Amino acid sequence: MEYRKIGKTGLSASVIGLGSEHLDGKPYAVVEETIHAALDQGINIMDLFMPGDEVRHNIGKALGNRRKEMIIQGHIGSVDLSEQYDISRDLPTCQRYFEQLLKHLGTDYIDVGMLFFIDSDEALEQIFTNGIVDYALELKRQGVIRAIGTSSHNPVVARKLLETGVVDLMMFSINPAFDMTPAGTDVLTTMEELSEQQYVTIDPVRADLYKYCEQQEIAITVMKTLGGGRLLSAEHSPFKKAMSVTQCIHYALTRPGVVSTMIGCQSAKQVEEAVAYLQTTEQERDYMEIISGYRGEGSGQCVYCNHCQPCPVNIDIAMVNKYLDIARLDTAQIPPSIKQHYRSLSASGADCIACGSCEDKCPFSVSIIRNMEQAEALLR
Ligand code: SF4
Ligand code: SF4
Repeated sequence: MEYRKIGKTGLSASVIGLGSEHLDGKPYAVVEETIHAALDQGINIMDLFMPGDEVRHNIGKALGNRRKEMIIQGHIGSVDLSEQYDISRDLPTCQRYFEQLLKHLGTDYIDVGMLFFIDSDEALEQIFTNGIVDYALELKRQGVIRAIGTSSHNPVVARKLLETGVVDLMMFSINPAFDMTPAGTDVLTTMEELSEQQYVTIDPVRADLYKYCEQQEIAITVMKTLGGGRLLSAEHSPFKKAMSVTQCIHYALTRPGVVSTMIGCQSAKQVEEAVAYLQTTEQERDYMEIISGYRGEGSGQCVYCNHCQPCPVNIDIAMVNKYLDIARLDTAQIPPSIKQHYRSLSASGADCIACGSCEDKCPFSVSIIRNMEQAEALLR
C-alpha cells in the first residue's frame, strides 16, 4: 500500500480508502469480510456517513480491537429521522447522532469529524449560525475528533468553507466527467444526463480548488471516483468509452491535494480489485485516450496525466507541472512544503534537456519546456 500525509494532521492515509455505503443493510458477515480484507490490504481510512444504528454497530464490531488501524471519517449532520438518509443542521440532533456514532462503533474518538454535505450557501451559513462548527471545534479541542473535515460536491461553496480555515480535510466528488462540468452545475442531478453534457475541458474553478487545497495543506479524499459506475460503461459514460477502475482511480489520485480515493466495496474480492490498482502499469493507468477528445483546443493547462512520458532524463513531468501550478497561485508566497516536495524529486526542471519529445505527445499543448524552466526558477 502507498500512503500520503493528511495535510497538517500528522496522519497518513492509504491511497485506496474504503467507502462503506454498500455495507448498509448487509448481514454482519459481509461487513466483517469487507472490513477485515481492507485492513489486511493496508487500507487505513474509511468513510462512514450512514446514520443507521445497525450498520454503525456492525462496522464497530468488525473493526473490534483493530479500531486504531483505521482512520474513520464520521459525519456531523447525517441523520435518518424519517428512516431514510437525511441532513440535519439542528445542533442537538447533530450531537445526538454523533454521540450515537461513537457508541455504536464502541470507540471514544473519531479521527475526522466531517461537516456533512456542505453543497449550498444556506448549508454553509447554517453550520456557523447553528453552532455546528463550534461543536466540531470543541470536539477537536477535547480530542474526541482529531481533525475537522467536510464533504461537498460544490466547488464554490467548498472553497468558501475552506477559506474560513476551519477544515483540515475535504471529501469531494472527483472524476473526469464531474471535473468537466461547469462549477455552477449540480453534478448529482446532472449525473442522469451526463451524455447530454458538453464536455470541453477541466473546469477552472474545480482545478483551482484542488490546487488551493495542496497549497494550504488541506487533504482531499475522493468520493464518486467511478461516477457511480457510469464511467465504467461506454453506454452510460459521457465520453462514450468505458474507463477502467484503474484509470478512474489514477485520475483522482493525480489531482493536486488528493490523498485517498474512497472506493465502495461490499466483499473481500472488491477490496482486492480496488487495491490491484497499485500493481498496474503506467499504460494501464493512462486515461488520456478517454478524455483527450474532449479537450479545449490548445488549452495549455496540464491535467497531470503523464501521457507525455517517458522523459529521457526521468523527470516526473506531471508532478513538476503540479507544483508549478500551485506556486503560480501566489508566486510571492509559495508554500515551503511545495518547494520541499519539488526539491526532493529525483529529477527536476534543471535536468530538462529540451528534447521536446514530451511536447509532441501532450494532447493539451502544454508548454512543458518553458514550465520546466519556470519551475526551477520559482521552486529551487
Ligand atoms: S504535460 Fe500534457 S501529457 Fe504531460 S502530464 Fe501534463 S497534460 Fe499530461
Ligand atoms: S523536453 Fe525536458 S521534460 Fe520534456 S521529455 Fe525532454 S527532457 Fe524531459
